[in-house]
Amino acid sequence: MLALTAVAGLALGNHLLISHSTEQYLTDTTAIILAGRQRVLSQRVVYRALWGDEQGVADSREKWRLAHARLKNTLANDASRLGRIGRLGLMASEREKLLVAADAVLKAKGHPSSDLTAELRAQGHAFLDLMENTVRSFDELAVARLEGMQRTEAMLLAGTLLLLLIEALFIFEPATRALRTQWQALARSAERMELAVRGSRDGLWDWDLGTDRVYFSPRWQQLLGLNENQISDAPQEWFSRVDPDQVVDLRERLGRLRDGHDPHLSIQLRMTHADGQPRWMLCRAAVARDEQEAAVRLSGSLTDISELKAAQDELIQQAHHDRLTGLPNRERFLKELQGALRRHHDDPDDHFAVLFFDFDRFKTVNDSLGHSVGDALLISIAERFRAELRKDDIAARFGGDEFVILLNGTAGPDETRLAADRLLAALAQPHRLGKHTVVSTASIGVVTDGLGHDNAADVLRDADAAMYKAKAAGKNNHRFFDQQMHDAAVERLRTENDLRAGLDDQLEVYYQPILTLADSRVVGFEALVRWNHPTRGLITPDRFIPMAEETGLIVPLGARVLRAACRQLAAWDRGPALGRQPGISVNCSKRQLLDPGFTALVRDVLDRTGLPAGRLTLEITETAVMENPEDIARVMAEVRALGVRLAMDDFGTGHSSLSCLHEFPINAVKMDRSFVRRMNRDTSFAAVAQTIADLGLNLKLDIVAEGIEDPLQQERLRTMGCLYGQGYLFARPLSADDATAYLGKDAGGIPRAA
Ligand code: C2E
Ligand code: MG
Ligand code: MG
Repeated sequence: MLALTAVAGLALGNHLLISHSTEQYLTDTTAIILAGRQRVLSQRVVYRALWGDEQGVADSREKWRLAHARLKNTLANDASRLGRIGRLGLMASEREKLLVAADAVLKAKGHPSSDLTAELRAQGHAFLDLMENTVRSFDELAVARLEGMQRTEAMLLAGTLLLLLIEALFIFEPATRALRTQWQALARSAERMELAVRGSRDGLWDWDLGTDRVYFSPRWQQLLGLNENQISDAPQEWFSRVDPDQVVDLRERLGRLRDGHDPHLSIQLRMTHADGQPRWMLCRAAVARDEQEAAVRLSGSLTDISELKAAQDELIQQAHHDRLTGLPNRERFLKELQGALRRHHDDPDDHFAVLFFDFDRFKTVNDSLGHSVGDALLISIAERFRAELRKDDIAARFGGDEFVILLNGTAGPDETRLAADRLLAALAQPHRLGKHTVVSTASIGVVTDGLGHDNAADVLRDADAAMYKAKAAGKNNHRFFDQQMHDAAVERLRTENDLRAGLDDQLEVYYQPILTLADSRVVGFEALVRWNHPTRGLITPDRFIPMAEETGLIVPLGARVLRAACRQLAAWDRGPALGRQPGISVNCSKRQLLDPGFTALVRDVLDRTGLPAGRLTLEITETAVMENPEDIARVMAEVRALGVRLAMDDFGTGHSSLSCLHEFPINAVKMDRSFVRRMNRDTSFAAVAQTIADLGLNLKLDIVAEGIEDPLQQERLRTMGCLYGQGYLFARPLSADDATAYLGKDAGGIPRAA
């Protein structure tokens, strides 16, 4: 009897222990979930605030507040809460800081300063760190408690078993039966507990393979919005709630688990909640086997990961989409385009086309009406694309006003042409943006399949090139990339690579004399670069200077010309006395002048060669000056301050008004060849030439006429009052040696005029 009482006592103890432990276990897991939720919500607040989504921030803030209150409640019921409750205050104060930073960003209405966004991100990271530590410490406490519980439980069970053995030996059968029933109840509890431990926090299930019945825990049912006992214990209750597309996979993987091919299972399932909405669940499972290693049961857990999935989806959406218009971004577009290329490769009848857009007035709108109107224009453009495109077509924004469209499954170029026309017409309609009405027509560059492209970046490069052609041909226009453009692009690329390689030893400076028109005496030389290409021979600058300007190669190239020309002038100075010292004119492009090291370069060249600054003239084309008047004028002032002279080159071809000439610190004007050439045939050109010559007199500028080819031109220019000239009449651009010889003859006093 004593033994019986002892067994009963132990059994009761075990029961009490288990139910108390289950409670603690629930507290622990709830605390971890609520802390985890706060972590997710903090990230949401950061992203929503960065997107300017006020409502989203307000919703997340409310959810966050609720999660925190629930966490406080949960910990209040826990006897050993002290270890954790201290963190609550810290979490609340960090949360407030993050919310203040989020409010500051929201207040900026879509244009937060980089300081504000950096502050928000920093607060977001601080909160994440805090929550990482919090979740870890909650986890550690939970594990410690579970381990302690399992040890006590094991001791109690061992005692019970020992007493049962004694009972079986010494006491009558009816008493043992009662004990056995109790022991079995204990064993079941222990088993369930073990399941709880293994199956982790959320809904539990346990599939008895012998009876083909499944135990769904109340929490399992609750997760799917079911009341207790609303469903039977048939496996179908589970499968019927899984997305039909996933059922086969789920069954197969459960089979692999049962058959020992996989040690455990972890799968994300889309399941249907009782409210009809889908929920994302993480299902984990393990298998239990008998002594013969046959699977007897599958058990596991179900965790609702919908919030996590939503947060993940948001991050993915953000990583692949443009924030302003919601259209896919460059990265996503490249992936889609790569897919189209692959499909076309597999099936040549599967056609596609890429349309690259440029909008002619976007910059003006942005600058004159403000960024918010600019943004509204971009959104309006995106809406027109959405309205015009078919389901399979993809419109993307790469940034600025760069939009690209992928037409999938087109019938060929004719259909693409129609689509491009339709888009142009749709885009040419005025956009109504609040109180403004804006018209911004597009230029479209088109690339279709069949040109042998095999990677997306090349397709985009060529579409971009075609877009430039469309733009150059007049706006509201489209151009297809064709073989000719392709060849030109290849040629350009080849030239660029060759020039890069030949920069050090293939450039040669030629010198064209500049003379007085009255008595044809040399006053200086213009340095003109030539490229001695190893296979293509001598290449003139118009074939490579524009490309060098675009690629930036002009900066090292121009520096070389400047050094070589000044060295040459110093060498002439050291040669036989010439009676008078010529000057040297060096052409400088806009890109060179805007290079931050330009003035220092000029100073360095003068120092090294020892030339007086006044013998160097820098020629800057009128177009370059007018494209960037303020910046160029600043650099001009810097080099003028060194004592260097400045000339405005190709004068008359740009769009400067004569009246603004005095605003630039120049010493000379070079009258463009086009006037000299037509002057004797066309009176209007003669009139302009005369005006330029007068300007020189009035503004005290030296006028140098370019491209003088015959004596009549020389004579006419001279009578107009133009003092200097250069041209084939006197000499073509000469190699350094020829120029030296020419200079020697000039010093001999032979006039050059014909
Ligand atoms: P530019 O500065 O206006 O140079 C004058 C151009 O007119 C030179 O062409 C010269 O050879 C040509 N020319 C001179 N006299 C006559 C003539 O009587 N008849 C005809 N038909 N042409 C004449 P080039 O050497 O081909 O240079 C073309 C342009 O390339 C230059 O125009 C200049 O803008 C640019 N350039 C040349 N060298 C350099 C350089 O080192 N740096 C930079 N940035 N540009 C350069
Ligand atoms: Mg020049
Ligand atoms: Mg010129």
